[in-house]
Amino acid sequence: MQYYSTNNPNQKVSLSEAVIKGLAPDNGLYMPERIPVLPKELIERLPEMSFREIGYAVIGALFSEDLSEKQIHELVDHTLTFDAPIVKVEEDVYSLELFHGPTLAFKDFGARFCSKLMSMLVGEKSQKVRVLVATSGDTGSAVANGFLGVEGVEVIILFPKGKVSPLQEKQFTTLGQNITALEVDGVFDDCQTLVKRAFLDPELNQKLLLTSANSINIARWIPQCLYYFYAYSRLPKNGKKVVFAVPSGNFGNIGAGILAQQMGLPIDRFVAATNVNKVVPEYLHGSPFQAKPSIPTVSNSMDVGNPSNFPRLQALYGGDEELFREKVKGYFYSDEQTVEAIQSVQPKGYTLDPHGAVGYLGLKDFMAEHSGCIGVFLETAHPGKFRDVVEEALGEKLILPDRLAAFLEGEKKVIPIGKSFAEFKGYLERLD
Ligand SMILES: *Cc1c(COP(=O)(O)O)cnc(C)c1O
Repeated sequence: MQYYSTNNPNQKVSLSEAVIKGLAPDNGLYMPERIPVLPKELIERLPEMSFREIGYAVIGALFSEDLSEKQIHELVDHTLTFDAPIVKVEEDVYSLELFHGPTLAFKDFGARFCSKLMSMLVGEKSQKVRVLVATSGDTGSAVANGFLGVEGVEVIILFPKGKVSPLQEKQFTTLGQNITALEVDGVFDDCQTLVKRAFLDPELNQKLLLTSANSINIARWIPQCLYYFYAYSRLPKNGKKVVFAVPSGNFGNIGAGILAQQMGLPIDRFVAATNVNKVVPEYLHGSPFQAKPSIPTVSNSMDVGNPSNFPRLQALYGGDEELFREKVKGYFYSDEQTVEAIQSVQPKGYTLDPHGAVGYLGLKDFMAEHSGCIGVFLETAHPGKFRDVVEEALGEKLILPDRLAAFLEGEKKVIPIGKSFAEFKGYLERLD
């Protein structure tokens, strides 16, 4: 299978190039040239299949031209090491819990798949790959944990000194092995600039094989479709139409759901739920797409003013705006509404995190307007990851899962650097 750039459909590359480059040279996003449709009898058999068996079938349909069956199994097994259960919250309302992985957020799925696929694709090359990541928190922890111990790949994480929450920092500075954390004396934008300059530096690229594990990489994007298949297969549908509500920031997660739908999964509609960074809901209500500066909120992993996967959504609908607006409904919520949702759902015996709360609100509003549906909202992070907001909303302490508490005990190891490119380049040049 080849992958085209959303900026130029005639510009096609191999899987290997799409994954190792990440972003197309014309700044477009890579997309599969063709979306395989799964046989109906396979869709009907999903409820009898395990999560991994579903993974082999779906990933096989997309990658079997490029990878052996053994590789596909290895990839899926490396990715799906934890469950993604659906939990009933109310009548016809289910939470799809995507936080049972090592860093307690859904990004673990994409990061684990990406690391394994990259190591397979560079396996043929003799050179080590260096993944450079600038992070303000979440991405660094998912990428570091996803790549931990993966052969042939070394991860270098740049983060701004004193600007990342202590818990998040621990998730990528205590791991060791093939993960190195550089503590930059600057802000997030300085980290991002250093990484961008390194990718553009001819001398460095001559010497080292540098890549990114950015969230727009198809190797992080595509595997996110797996849990839609799995959740659908486990949902007691009783003849009702199925709706997925996705709390969205860069819109990669919802895009993967649309991919699953186009591969034949009978999802009726999607709800795109955001905080007040509402560029996409406004577009879905009829406005032109207009990127804006981001606004800080309590669901901060969705504070995105220029959602990077938007061109991918347009491509999935073949540029048909009317169809896009028909199939995806947009809703947005304030911090007050988000906190109220956390408070009102708690007595039902379910603790929402601020991102899941936005998804829940979107689903409820959609269901109030459309009867006869059964809905799933994606719980993208464990509430303990955003304990400040959740504990304040509920007026009580949360019990942290053991694996989150375990990170707090690890010893932080970083290499401090200044924000000048010369210093960063010097560090990279000394690597063997
Ligand atoms: C990244 C993230 C999101 C947003 O996902 P997108 O794919 O960027 O739309 C939502 N919730 C949490 C907890 C996240 O970390």
